Amino acid sequence: MAEKILVVEDEPALLETIAYNLTRQGYQVETAADGQKALQAARTHHPDLIVLDIMLPLLDGFEVCRILRQEMNVTILMLTARDDEIDRVIGLEMGADDYITKPFSMREFLARVKAHLRRVRLIRQEIDQDSGMIKEIFTYDNLTLDLTRREVLLNNKPLALKPKEFDLLLFLTRHRGQVLSRTLVLERVWGWEFSGGSRTVDVHVRWLREKIELDPANPKRIITVRGAGYRFEG
Ligand code: CA
Repeated sequence: MAEKILVVEDEPALLETIAYNLTRQGYQVETAADGQKALQAARTHHPDLIVLDIMLPLLDGFEVCRILRQEMNVTILMLTARDDEIDRVIGLEMGADDYITKPFSMREFLARVKAHLRRVRLIRQEIDQDSGMIKEIFTYDNLTLDLTRREVLLNNKPLALKPKEFDLLLFLTRHRGQVLSRTLVLERVWGWEFSGGSRTVDVHVRWLREKIELDPANPKRIITVRGAGYRFEG
């Protein structure tokens, strides 16, 4: 099935050019020309990737990004008119995955889109051969989470994770790209009744890194955000 891309851009000519080129590459393309339509379209079509302009009528791209990050796991590629450091910083804080500065070459743009879709295969739903049930699978490069079996595979080999390690990894992956505070992680993964402190989160992150990172001392998947918490990169 074709991957779905939502293009949000208020300049009609640019919107048309991007949509045309993505369609030609075989993607299923939806479009929106303002921030509110972007939210509606994302909620209706559940795209795999969103190309999101920053300066938009009604709601700007930062706001759209911030709202969508709380609702869904989607790759967001932002378009910025200026090569402005502030835009980049704000956008990353809002959870954007990447930036491209206008004007850009269509070839570079398409390469970037392709790379993102390859890097993160979002939730794939498949029919499990044994049970006949729909199974939910997240794949990030060589790391696979099978929610039905509560199994994690690294290079197709099962990893032995403790139940809380699995829950933590699932929570992180479901909020990929977002900075998650230790308090939030404790509340969502361990629950309100848990009396341990935020050290618990750090310890479990350390254990997870030892299992899923190539170099646990130099993590690329679970990133520490100083003074803020953790962020899952993919
Ligand atoms: Ca614009």
